[in-house]
Amino acid sequence: MNKQTRIEILTRLRDNNPQPTTELTYNSPFELLIAVILSAQATDKGVNKATERLFPIANTPEAILALGVEGLKEYIKTIGLYNAKAENIIKTCRDLIEKHQSQVPEDRAALEALAGVGRKTANVVLNTAFGHPTIAVDTHIFRVSNRTGFAPGKDVVKVEEKLNKVVPNEFKVDVHHWLILLGRYTCIARKPRCGSCIIEDLCEYKDKTDL
Ligand code: SF4
Repeated sequence: MNKQTRIEILTRLRDNNPQPTTELTYNSPFELLIAVILSAQATDKGVNKATERLFPIANTPEAILALGVEGLKEYIKTIGLYNAKAENIIKTCRDLIEKHQSQVPEDRAALEALAGVGRKTANVVLNTAFGHPTIAVDTHIFRVSNRTGFAPGKDVVKVEEKLNKVVPNEFKVDVHHWLILLGRYTCIARKPRCGSCIIEDLCEYKDKTDL
């Protein structure tokens, strides 16, 4: 895909949704961090349902630590992998208190050192809580980047590198939201809805559908 086409795609996505954001509900960097940890292999809707009950009771590292692993599980047991996530969140809360004055660090290495926080989670927190131009590549972005020809790569790190290279700075903060939403609602895994896709004429996917 050439530069001109990429810019047309980005411009169209921006015109369609000038201020995109995550569909996770949060009111602070800490709430976002917890929501993103919970969202691994779970839907944002499912996470929001759990955090709607959890955050009014506990939305600080101290308060969640006070719940303990078992207490926390009561709030998140509707979410996949909740046992491991509860353990990780309690460890993360302890680390935030002991090493970061109870604040979410605005730093990739410090974030990735927290339990349950990998590259993708760190990217989402840096981007969405702190406005860094980081691009978190999840399953939707990986699929859309490859299908469209926008930023092909054989694994998520390669796609992230390619996106960082080809996306102009003015689009970098928002591009991951646009691509996630495109992948979640239109360029879906099973069968893309090309017929109702706003970038259909620009996308280079060979097997477009009429849906
Ligand atoms: S045209 Fe089809 S394959 Fe291309 S981005 Fe849209 S939904 Fe996905």
